[in-house]
Amino acid sequence: MSQEDALARARNLVASSSRISALTGAGISVGSGIPDFRSEGGVWERYDPLEYATHESFVNDPTKFWTMGREIAPLLLKAKPNDAHIALAQLELGGRFIGIITLNIDNLHQVAGNKNVIELRGNYLRAHCTGCSREYFGEAVHRRVAEGEIPPHCDDCGAVLKSEAVLFGEPLSQSAMSRAIQICRSTDLMLVVGASLQIYPAAYLPSLAKRNGAKVILLNLEGFNRDGVADLVLKGKASDILPKIVEY
Ligand code: ZN
Repeated sequence: MSQEDALARARNLVASSSRISALTGAGISVGSGIPDFRSEGGVWERYDPLEYATHESFVNDPTKFWTMGREIAPLLLKAKPNDAHIALAQLELGGRFIGIITLNIDNLHQVAGNKNVIELRGNYLRAHCTGCSREYFGEAVHRRVAEGEIPPHCDDCGAVLKSEAVLFGEPLSQSAMSRAIQICRSTDLMLVVGASLQIYPAAYLPSLAKRNGAKVILLNLEGFNRDGVADLVLKGKASDILPKIVEY
């Protein structure tokens, strides 16, 4: 199928669906200047996740996580939604969109204007105190880290703060998972954008949607169709393609 035919087919699917959803991964934010952590030269090549980003390593030495955080946070803080995020926000405004399940921690869907965003891996702007559970939201914790407070401590009790980005080996939020499953059971068209679908639960959600009768469109740079789950595959940059298939 030519790219033009694939785009036309995608537009038809979007136009004829009434409960559209999206599952988004690192690929949607590359156009906002946030490189995929798993890409060549990416964060995980410079910071071995087993050393810097597992739950166990955080408990043993939170300094390591926040040292990595000091490098990543400025990138996330300056990122703005790109045309792909904006296309999904427009789709929600149109009223035939039931929500986004995202693997990203970058908060860009919310900045773009989407209201129902399920963050399977948390959000880097949220942190909580490991002592008294006080919650923190926003840039302030990252500013303190940037100024050398590593790890950052709670204003109330002095215990170490933990980012709410989900670490490796840490359970996913049960409520986020159950909301994601609810979306998969009720959507009639799932747009899978920039997600590699290699690991659970991302790998499982599109097939769950499909088993419940939804059509699935995969949009990624490589044009892969993981496990044949897609009814249609679009190859290219999310920020180029998504605006073309979403009618405003
Ligand atoms: Zn505290």
